[in-house]
Amino acid sequence: IMPLIKQDGKAVGTLTVAAEKPGLFSKTRRDFLELIAAQIAIKIDLGQAHEKINKLATTDGLTELANHRTFQHGFDVMLERAMRQSTPVSLILCDIDFFKKINDTYGHFIGDKVLVAVTKKAAESLRETDILCRYGGEEFVLILPEINEEDAAQVAEKIRRRVAKMTLKAGNKSFKITSSFGVCTFAPGVMEADEMVTLADHALYAAKEQGRNGVGYASSRPATSKPATSS
Ligand code: GH3
Ligand code: MG
Ligand code: MG
Repeated sequence: IMPLIKQDGKAVGTLTVAAEKPGLFSKTRRDFLELIAAQIAIKIDLGQAHEKINKLATTDGLTELANHRTFQHGFDVMLERAMRQSTPVSLILCDIDFFKKINDTYGHFIGDKVLVAVTKKAAESLRETDILCRYGGEEFVLILPEINEEDAAQVAEKIRRRVAKMTLKAGNKSFKITSSFGVCTFAPGVMEADEMVTLADHALYAAKEQGRNGVGYASSRPATSKPATSS
C-alpha cells in the first residue's frame, strides 16, 4: 500500500498492489511503483483542479446556481431538443421586487441572504429536468422542458406565493419580500427561439408595471397582478 501524495504534501488516495506470494516485490520494483504512485497523484491533483476551475466558471458562488453563461448553453441545448421532438419548452424570468431597497434598508449582507432564500424557494418548486440559473443580480431564470404555458404559469405562481409567504430576518427585525415573473413558452411560427428571453423580459416588465408580486405572459394571456398571497 502506497499513499498518493500531491505536491502540497496532502494525500489524495492510496495505491494498493497485491502479490500472490510474499517477497515478490524487490526494492527496484517498489521504487518503480513509488514513481507510478507519484504520477497518479499528480494526475488526480490536476483533475481536481480542473473540476474546481470548471465549477467556478459555470456556477455562481453565492447561490451555487448555474450562472448566465451556463444558462445560455443549457437553454440552447433544451431549445434544440424541443424543436427536434416538437415538445414545448418554457422560460420563466424571476426578479425580486424593490431589491435595491432591501439592500439600502438592511445592508448588502442581508440582501445576499435574501438571494439565497429565494433560490431555495424556487428550487423547491422544480422537477429534476428543470434548470434554475442566476441570471444576474437579483434575477433568476428557469428553463422548463416539456412544459406548456399553462403549467409554467402554475410553477411561476407557486414560486411567487412561496416567496411572498417567507418571513425574513435582519437582526431582531423581520420583513417580507415579493417577486415578479415573466413567462414565455416557445410557440413555433409565432416567435423565433432567440426571441424567447426578450419576450419573457417584456412579460416580466408587464408584471412590474401592473404593481409587482405578479406573473406576466409573453402570449396574450393577461398578467396576474397582486393576487392574494395565500396559497
Ligand atoms: P424592481 O422591483 O423594479 O425590480 O426594483 P429593484 O430595486 O429590485 O431593481 P433594481 O434593478 O433597481 O435593483 C437591483 C439591485 O440588486 C441593485 C443591486 O445593487 C442589487 N444587487 C445585484 N446583485 C446583488 C448581489 O449579489 N447581492 C446584493 N446584496 N445585492 C445585489
Ligand atoms: Mg432586476
Ligand atoms: Mg428587482
